[in-house]
Amino acid sequence: CGIVGYAGGRPALGIVLDGLRRLEYRGYDSAGVAIVCEDELLTEKKAGKLANLEKVLAERAAADPESCGASPIGIGDGTTGIGHTRWATHGGPTDRNAHPHLAPDGRVAVIHNGIIENFAKLRAELEADGVEFASDTDTECAAHLLSAALAELRSAGEVDSPQLLASAMRVVCQRLEGAFTLLAVDAGIPGAVVGARRNSPLVVGRGDGENYLASDVAAFIEHTRDAVELGQDQIVLITPDSIEITDFAGQPATGKDFHIDWDS
Ligand code: GLU
Repeated sequence: CGIVGYAGGRPALGIVLDGLRRLEYRGYDSAGVAIVCEDELLTEKKAGKLANLEKVLAERAAADPESCGASPIGIGDGTTGIGHTRWATHGGPTDRNAHPHLAPDGRVAVIHNGIIENFAKLRAELEADGVEFASDTDTECAAHLLSAALAELRSAGEVDSPQLLASAMRVVCQRLEGAFTLLAVDAGIPGAVVGARRNSPLVVGRGDGENYLASDVAAFIEHTRDAVELGQDQIVLITPDSIEITDFAGQPATGKDFHIDWDS
């Protein structure tokens, strides 16, 4: 339902949570975040309102104040992150079905708006290969496929880089049918968030030493009014200093630049 991503120099958690709050008007049944922090992926997700998620984040901070830095809520000082508010379509509105969805090794996190129409076939294929699912969502198959694509590229000799994350996302998108906005992060590739869209909105917010991704400009309007609307079937890779757009085949592409001039 609502999607936010951030790559920059400031702690991501507060920025992502603020962005999700600005998307609350759309309605949702659960919420979650994934923050990349010093080669670790920190995730938390919870059914119900954002306040429920913030409560578990605060409990986590109280239990382990040192956890990877000392941001206001304590999950860490990670400066790369994604966040999601979910409107359940496949699987009930429970903690386990809330996004982000992770690969079993906990290194890759994916959030998704929309519906992956061929998820049953993909899930059956993955299960036949021994993959165990942790949710009832259509989304989770994208996390497993992304993890597998990254592993394959790495074993072919590709080194970790933001571009590797984008390459792996392209492999995944070529297998998905339906409507999706996807964002993903990888613990081994700090400083990068990859996004993809088909039949579902995704906009980029261009900042100074930081960039944003969101399903709606409302999520980042307090930080920047300089935006790019992605075209159909495009992949966008953001780092603190770059925005790279390609099509699903890897060819360079351009979005539509625009300036947000309405009052927030
Ligand atoms: N189909 C996904 C799910 O049910 C995403 C729903 C959404 O757009 O929030 O988890």
